[in-house]
Amino acid sequence: LVAFLLYLFYLVAPVGQLVQGFTQMQNGLAAVRRIREIEDLPTEEIGTLTDAPGTAPAGVSFQDVVFRYGEDRPVVHDGVSFDIPPRGLTALVGPSGAGKSTVFALLERFYEQQSGTITVDGRDVRDWPLPDLRAVLGYVEQDAPVLDGTLRENLVFAAPGVEETEVRRVLSLTRLDDLVARLPEGLETEVGHRGIMLSGGERQRVAIARALLRKPRVLLLDEATSQLDAVNEMRLREVVAEVAKETTVLVIAHRLSTVTSADRIVVMEGGGVRAVGTHGELLDEDDLYRELAATQFLLPT
Ligand code: ADP
Ligand code: MG
Repeated sequence: LVAFLLYLFYLVAPVGQLVQGFTQMQNGLAAVRRIREIEDLPTEEIGTLTDAPGTAPAGVSFQDVVFRYGEDRPVVHDGVSFDIPPRGLTALVGPSGAGKSTVFALLERFYEQQSGTITVDGRDVRDWPLPDLRAVLGYVEQDAPVLDGTLRENLVFAAPGVEETEVRRVLSLTRLDDLVARLPEGLETEVGHRGIMLSGGERQRVAIARALLRKPRVLLLDEATSQLDAVNEMRLREVVAEVAKETTVLVIAHRLSTVTSADRIVVMEGGGVRAVGTHGELLDEDDLYRELAATQFLLPT
């Protein structure tokens, strides 16, 4: 029941609330253990998934999307269009404020665009039952926290009833099996503030593993901006490449290793999509990309 409630919380909480919620939940899993005493919440109040969402990778598209956060707010998306086929790695890049994170917020339908069409698996996001839409999209926020509790609890709280073989498969896929082997009590080791602190790279991979255990048909990853050491940077690149073989991966990229290995890069600027191409193509063809690559991704010019 507890895992299910958390799962529903995850499905229905708006972004800001979610992030804030997670922060407040630094003692979260301890609190969850207390919630276990709560019983018999009427199911009609929380709703249920309407149908099984399936597992095939889904495509994503934006067509002429116009969006502002409020009537008196500036336009963020002023005709954003792009098409992402199922499977593979797509990197979203652009200067700060270009509207990259807003792409994720609109996909998850935390907000609704003023005009234009957004589809997931060919279906308008406005036509998806919200819990199904959010089950299909695995969202990994920037600097996703590790909660106090065991590593296992951190991984499976949003995926009740997941098989042990699947947990092991995802641990291996996300290159966390070394960490598990190193921890004194393996998966049952307490992590977070009251246990063993994980490195930035490990935390990011735990967040990816947590999302993958919910079997998303699209993985939305807002990369952490903090530096990773060379080993963790390499592991992240491998993990993202592996995951992109089995599902659609959309990454807001802050790392050279992500953009160079992407199947396509969408360059956002000034409310729209400025260019789409591979790293090599964009270095040749796009001034802004060259500049971003030089500054944001620390390439020699
Ligand atoms: P990026 O991720 O590319 O840096 P964002 O999508 O986060 O850009 O933000 C685009 C613009 O929308 C920025 O000007 C930002 O201040 C504004 N913005 C982002 N989130 C909100 C919000 N929840 N409410 C109001 N304005 C927002
Ligand atoms: Mg952002």
